[in-house]
Amino acid sequence: PPIIEIDHLSKQYAGGTRALDNVSLSIEQGEILALLGPNGAGKTTLISIICGLVVPTGGTVRVGGHDIRTDWRAARKLIGLVPQEIALEPFETVANSVRFTRGLYGEGPDEAYLEQLLRSLALWDKRDAPTRALSGGMKRRVLIAKALSHRPKVLFLDEPTAGVDVHLRREMWTVVSELRASGVTIILTTHYLEEAEEMADRIGVIDKGHLMLVRPTAELMGEFGRKQ
Ligand code: ADP
Ligand code: ADP
Repeated sequence: PPIIEIDHLSKQYAGGTRALDNVSLSIEQGEILALLGPNGAGKTTLISIICGLVVPTGGTVRVGGHDIRTDWRAARKLIGLVPQEIALEPFETVANSVRFTRGLYGEGPDEAYLEQLLRSLALWDKRDAPTRALSGGMKRRVLIAKALSHRPKVLFLDEPTAGVDVHLRREMWTVVSELRASGVTIILTTHYLEEAEEMADRIGVIDKGHLMLVRPTAELMGEFGRKQ
């Protein structure tokens, strides 16, 4: 079965904005899906609902078969989120920062996994450095390490390259493609077609709260007349 099943999902905010309108989508374990759309399309709302941060006004979401409304505790263990803003504890070390997040999920320490995680994100040498001493790219990698601290099956990246330079964007693309090998399912939002094309197996185009289409990347790029 799909790791995520979104069925007729809608969200109307208190002010009246319909941020999502009747969105249905299934996501398979291990795939990388990009949600592509302009600012205000509803991308953040969609991942915020799946991550339990926003309550939908209609429809259902299942994560690993668990309904997020009735079985949230089981669902959240399967999910890791890298938020849009960099929010790190400046005086905390890299390793402690990741340990802290793991604790929030009620998981006991696992130093062997912590080492593997920090090595895979090229942060092992910085494990005892305070996060404020890190470069922008390293800070983003710490956020990914925190999101993966409890070994989730699904990783959400909300606008992973918003406001970063070309060099850092490339670095993030590399990090994501390396995560593919770990088998984690990745869902990212972006408003760059090139970024979606570079990273994702499948692209969902979202606009004004509507999921316009969902296609394998190769198929979609073929339609746009671009070579792979
Ligand atoms: P995106 O991530 O694609 O930029 P969002 O999900 O952030 O889109 O926003 C979708 C729509 O919902 C926008 O019109 C936005 O202004 C509105 N919106 C987002 N968050 C809230 C909120 N907390 N309260 C009211 N409206 C919101
Ligand atoms: P202060 O020294 O002013 O308490 P901290 O950076 O230690 O500042 O903490 C700020 C907030 O971040 C606190 O609410 C604390 O609970 C939280 N916090 C502290 N350490 C971590 C951590 N490693 N990971 C995530 N949040 C943390």
